[in-house]
Amino acid sequence: MSQISARIQALAVSQTLAMSQKSAELKAQGVDVINLSVGEPDFHTPDHIKAAAVKAIDDNFSFYSPVPGYMSLRKAISDKLSRENGLSFSPEQIVVGNGAKHALCNVILATVDPGDEVIIPTPAWVSYVEMVKLAEGKSVFIPTGVADNFKVTPEKLEAAITPRTKAIIICSPSNPTGSVYSREELEALVKVLVRHPQVLIIADEIYEHIIYTGGEFVSLASFPAIAGRTVVINGVSKAYAMTGWRIGYCAAPIDLAKAVTKLQGQFTSGASSIAQKAAEAAYTGPQDCVEEMRKAFERRRDLVVRLARQIPGLVINEPQGAFYLFPEVSSFFGKSAHGYKIVNSASLAMYLLEVAHVATVDGAAFCAPGYIRLSYATSDENLIAAFARIGKALGELK
Ligand code: PMP
Ligand code: GLU
Repeated sequence: MSQISARIQALAVSQTLAMSQKSAELKAQGVDVINLSVGEPDFHTPDHIKAAAVKAIDDNFSFYSPVPGYMSLRKAISDKLSRENGLSFSPEQIVVGNGAKHALCNVILATVDPGDEVIIPTPAWVSYVEMVKLAEGKSVFIPTGVADNFKVTPEKLEAAITPRTKAIIICSPSNPTGSVYSREELEALVKVLVRHPQVLIIADEIYEHIIYTGGEFVSLASFPAIAGRTVVINGVSKAYAMTGWRIGYCAAPIDLAKAVTKLQGQFTSGASSIAQKAAEAAYTGPQDCVEEMRKAFERRRDLVVRLARQIPGLVINEPQGAFYLFPEVSSFFGKSAHGYKIVNSASLAMYLLEVAHVATVDGAAFCAPGYIRLSYATSDENLIAAFARIGKALGELK
């Protein structure tokens, strides 16, 4: 008999991390795999941030950190939210955790009771549904597709809300689609949310700086009508190329920040003292590194859109942010080559891995079967080679 709880048995393995692991294993066996699966900046953490971590070690920041994070970091985050996003969250409303993933899971565990509904527009990042499952909540999907640029309309949102709706998770810029809601589109959604004051709004803004709209990023928490019940999830992973440092945060209504702190105090304690000091340097130091990386991602976005459009059968939108392309691939279903038959997006992703040696992620992991996700957070050279391989392998399917 298994000693593993039903709760964990029901949980899916993170497909983004699993695909990346699989591609690393193939590489270790000598296969020349190009990894477009996991989404993380390929840049090194900027030097002034690394120097702050070295200094923290030398200064003996080796003791337990306060459960919600050092006050100096929470103050730096509060200042950042005010300066960059026009938001007023006090340091007491901010809880620092081990990455945005942890911050988000904390918020879900602290708010969702068994049977509560959480609205998740799809395609959605892999972990949302699993976190809701962990809290014994029920995910309610609002499906979108490439034809509507993966955006939820006010009508669809209204139709998804019930008296059991506890929360909604909105991710803009989106992983995995790259779609970004404009101010007007957010305003229209806010008008619906205003009619349902019981709904907590969870705004995953981890990709806020990786944006190609030419305009300013608009935070969902900046609309006064819903500001009091909007939680912002963010962190240093994407903006400062710090995925391995594991620092993220929630900025929440004060009662929720206290609940998250209580949970964190029993579960993980405060986040790494050294990484917190590095994150503080990221928020208070020079910001040109953020713009430099954004520019590189925009150039790569242009490159992959051009390359993908040259491959017959891939249907794409033009991503406005983040670093993912999310092509619709159903035109290949029913075709075969090299002993592989493509029956769905999972088999297509496997075909691309094993025949073209390019690692992607099956759209089903993002609740969007029929699509695959490619991360373009890698060099131009890798991207050009990867799309040549993909084009060849797809062209051979008959
Ligand atoms: N939200 C989204 C949409 C993401 O893509 C990621 C990165 N996997 C996270 C949250 C979590 O980021 P972190 O590395 O800070 O845990
Ligand atoms: N944001 C990345 C991705 O979606 C990181 C992996 C993860 O945490 O899921 O690929």
